[in-house]
Amino acid sequence: MRQIRLENVSKTFEGEEIISGLSLEIPTGKFFALLGPSGCGKTTILRLIAGLESVDSGKIYLGDQEITHQPIYKRRINTVFQQYALFPHLSVFENVAYSLRIRREKEIFVRDKVYDALKMVHLLGFDNKNINSLSGGQQQRVALARAIISQPEVLLLDEPLAALDQKLKEKLLIELIELQDKLKTTFVYVTHDQSEALTVADKMAIMNNDGHIEQIGTPKQIYEFPVSRFVANFVGNTNIIAGKLIEIDNQQMVEVKGLGNIFVFAPSKKNWMISGCNLFLSIRPEKIYISKKEINGFSNHLIGRVDNIIYYGRSTQYSVMLKNGKKLMVFEQNEEHFPQEVIDYDDNVNLYFQKENIVLLQG
Ligand code: ATP
Repeated sequence: MRQIRLENVSKTFEGEEIISGLSLEIPTGKFFALLGPSGCGKTTILRLIAGLESVDSGKIYLGDQEITHQPIYKRRINTVFQQYALFPHLSVFENVAYSLRIRREKEIFVRDKVYDALKMVHLLGFDNKNINSLSGGQQQRVALARAIISQPEVLLLDEPLAALDQKLKEKLLIELIELQDKLKTTFVYVTHDQSEALTVADKMAIMNNDGHIEQIGTPKQIYEFPVSRFVANFVGNTNIIAGKLIEIDNQQMVEVKGLGNIFVFAPSKKNWMISGCNLFLSIRPEKIYISKKEINGFSNHLIGRVDNIIYYGRSTQYSVMLKNGKKLMVFEQNEEHFPQEVIDYDDNVNLYFQKENIVLLQG
C-alpha cells in the first residue's frame, strides 16, 4: 500500500481557481475523510487523484511514483460515486465482474473474485438479480463490490450514501468501516456531512469555502481542539463568544462585554495569545451544565433565562439568553425518565463550565 500525496496542486474551471496550491498527504491503509461545505472543491480533488481531471500545476504521487499525468487505467485507484453508475442491462454478477471481463480473466478466477466481493458487501445470493430490482442501498453495495474487485490501492468514495435515507446511511457507514478494516485499502471519503465524517474517519481534513484545508487530524482532535472559528462551527455545534484576553495574578481570563471575566486555559500558548488581544472562545453545548441550583466546583458560572427548548429524545437542547443579550446553546443528555430538576421556558438558570473545555480561537 502506498500513500497519496498532492504537492502544490492547482485547478481552474472557466477562469475560476477552485483548488489553489493544495498540498495534502493521505495516510496509507486508513479511512480518510475530506469534509467541507458544498462547492468547496472536494469532488474536484477526488477527480484529480483518480485522473478524471488533469491538474493545471502541481504534482500527485502514489508512494514515490509520480502519477500526475498517468492515464486512469494505469492508476490502481477506483471511485464510487453518489450515482451508482451501474449497467442496468447487466446482472449483479456481470456488473461486479466488469473490470475482470475487460482483462479477459479466466471464468473460474472471475467467479471466485465476484463471489468474494459480493460476500464482502453482504450480497451473496443476489448475483443473478437485475440491477433495477435492487434498492438504493443494494445498488450502492454492487457499486462497492465492483470497485473493490480489482483490489485497488486506493478507493475514492464521493458522497456514496447521499441518496440513501438516514437509517440505511447509518447501517452502510458501519459496513464501510468494517470493509475498510478487512481490506486495509486506503479509503478517501468525501462528504459535506460532518457527522458522517466524524463516524467513519481515522483521520479527516476540513476544507473551507475557498478550497483551502483548515485542519487535519483525528475526529477527536478536530472536534475537541478546532483551530479556527470555521472548523469549530462546521464540525458539530458550538457557542462562540468574542472577548479580550487578560491575565490577573497569573490566571488567564477572557473579558467579555456585559458578562464579566471567563476563566480560560490554554495548554499550549500560541504566539498570538498576547495579553490584551481580541479573540474568540468556543464552548461546546454539551460541555455546559445547566441547573436552577447553585453548584460549586466549576471554574465558570453565568446566569441567564431559558428562551427556547427543543426535545430530541435522547437529549434536550436549551437556548439561554445571557444578561448581555447573547444566547448560549446547551445540550443535556436525557438520562432518566423522571429527572430531579425540570427546566422550563423563562426559568432563570445557572450555566456552569470548566475552563479546560474552552477553546481559544484567534480573533
Ligand atoms: P459538493 O459537496 O456540492 O459536491 P464539492 O466540494 O465536491 O461540492 P466540486 O464539485 O469539486 O465541489 O466543485 C467545486 C467548484 O468547481 C464548483 O463551483 C463547481 O461548479 C466547479 N466545477 C467543478 N467541476 C467543474 C467543471 N467540470 N466545469 C466547470 N466548473 C466546475
